[in-house]
Amino acid sequence: MLVGVPKEIKNHEYRVGLTPTGVRELTRRGHGVLVQRGAGAGVGLKDEDYVIAGARLADDPAEVFAEAEMVVKVKEPQPEECARLCPGQILFTYLHLAPDPEQARLLVDSDAVAIAYETVTDAHGGLPLLAPMSEVAGRMAVQAGAHALEKAQGGRGVLLAGVPGVPPANVSVIGSGVVGLNAARMALGLGADVTVLDLDLTRLRQIDAQFGPRLKTVYSTADALESAVFNADLVIGAVLIPGAAAPKLVTRAMISRMRPGAVVVDVAIDQGGCFETSHPTTHQDPTYTVDGVVHYCVANMPGGVARTATFALTQATLPYVLALADKGYRQALLDDPHLCAGLNVHRGAVTYAAVAEALGYTY
Ligand code: NAD
Repeated sequence: MLVGVPKEIKNHEYRVGLTPTGVRELTRRGHGVLVQRGAGAGVGLKDEDYVIAGARLADDPAEVFAEAEMVVKVKEPQPEECARLCPGQILFTYLHLAPDPEQARLLVDSDAVAIAYETVTDAHGGLPLLAPMSEVAGRMAVQAGAHALEKAQGGRGVLLAGVPGVPPANVSVIGSGVVGLNAARMALGLGADVTVLDLDLTRLRQIDAQFGPRLKTVYSTADALESAVFNADLVIGAVLIPGAAAPKLVTRAMISRMRPGAVVVDVAIDQGGCFETSHPTTHQDPTYTVDGVVHYCVANMPGGVARTATFALTQATLPYVLALADKGYRQALLDDPHLCAGLNVHRGAVTYAAVAEALGYTY
C-alpha cells in the first residue's frame, strides 16, 4: 500500500503523523511511503531521515493526497484537505466529528474511508490513541501550574517542592484517570503535597496501591471538593464524563474563596472545562486571572511539546497503521473490532452511532 503523510496545516500544529521509524517499519514490509517535504520539520524530523527510512518526498500536499491509498495525519482534515480526499482513500487521523458538522459533511461527500484515532478502543475499555495525549497533558499540567505559581506570572510565589524548613505546596487533582494519574505522578515527583479526588472508588484503590501513602486519595463529594480547592496552591481539573461536557465542579463562588494567587489548570477545557470560570486559552496567551486566581486553560496542551507528543502519538498509532497497510482496511477492521470502532465515515455514510446521532445522519 502507498501511505501518504502530508504536513499539518492547522494553525500552530507542528506534530506529524508518521516518524522515520514508522516509515522504516512500513517500507521493510514492502509498503511505499510518500512524505510531504518539511512534514516533520516542526518537531526536528528531517526530510533526509524520511528518505533514509525509505520514503519518497512530495513537493506539495496535492501530490500526497492524489497518490496515497491511505493518508496518515494528526489533526482533523481542514476543508482544503477534505477537498483533496479521493473516493475509497483511507484517512487515519483525529477527527472529533461530533461537534463539527461541516467536516462531517465534507468527509461524507468525499466518499473516503475516515477512521478516527479518538474512537479506537482497547480490550480494557480504554481509548489507546487518546491516552498518549492525556499522558502528555497530565504531566504538562504540573509544569504549567508550577510556572503560573511564580510571582511574575501572577501566582502566589510558591515553589511546589518547598525547601528544607518550608513545607511543599498543596496540589489537588480532580479526576484520577489518565490525565489525573500523570499529573499526580509529576506533582509527587516534584515533592508537592498531593491529593487526588475521584468518584470511582476502584480507580482510587488502584492509584492508592500504585503510589502508597505519599498520595492522598479522596472520594469526590461537594464537601471534599471544597476542602481540596480552598486549601490548594494548585488545582488540576482532569475529569471526564465520556460523551458529555465536563461537569462544572468548581463554581465561581468557590474560586473566590481560594488562596490569592493560587492557580487552576483546567485540562478538561477541551470538553468545556470543570471550573465555572474557565474559557479556552492558547499557548501564546495561556493564562488569565479571575478573583485573584490564575487560570491556565490551553485546549491543545500537547501542541506545546509537539516533539514528545509526536513520538507518543505515533508509537501508539503505528500498529494500526501497519495493520491497515498489511491487510487493507476491510480485513483489518473485520479482524479487530477495536480498530473497527474507529470507523466514523465509510464511503458516503456516517458509521459511528454517537456522531450520526449528534449530527442527524441515519446510522
Ligand atoms: P479519563 O476517562 O481517563 O479520566 C477521567 C476521570 O474523571 C475518571 O477517573 C472519572 O471517574 C473522573 N470523574 C468523573 N466525574 C468526576 C467527578 N465529579 N469528580 C471527580 N472525578 C470525576 O480521562 P482523561 O484521559 O484523564 O481525560 C481527562 C480530560 O482531559 C478529558 O476532558 C480530556 O478530553 C482532557 N484532555 C485535555 C487535553 C488538553 O490539551 N487540554 C489533552 C488531553 C486530554
